[in-house]
Amino acid sequence: MRDAFFLGVILVVPAALVIALLYSLAKFAWAAYQDWRLFRELNVIQAESAARREHKRADRQKRLDNGCEHAFGTGLGGFPPNACPKCGIEREKPMGRCDHVWRRKDGPVIGSYCEKCGKQYQPE
Ligand SMILES: [Zn+2]
Ligand SMILES: [Zn+2]
Repeated sequence: MRDAFFLGVILVVPAALVIALLYSLAKFAWAAYQDWRLFRELNVIQAESAARREHKRADRQKRLDNGCEHAFGTGLGGFPPNACPKCGIEREKPMGRCDHVWRRKDGPVIGSYCEKCGKQYQPE
């Protein structure tokens, strides 16, 4: 009976050690896997945002590519400061629904209006 008990102890101790070892190995592998997954997700997110940026840049370029040699920022002839007095579009697509196309207002008052939405602009 006592022999069997000792034999049991002798067997249980290494078995427990092996289990503990396997457990810590598994934990380590799991942590490494989580790290790898996080890293991969981060890469995907970065790639997506780079693609979005590139798409936006291309859109912006296409919008400006209308055959006009823009003269942004001159504010000439009553145009908004960021608009091109030659073709009327703004350097950056404005917030809101309308991508304004500014035209000079007729008459004695210096100012401009958007030919699409009718918004008025009056220089200070
Ligand atoms: Zn222009
Ligand atoms: Zn407009």
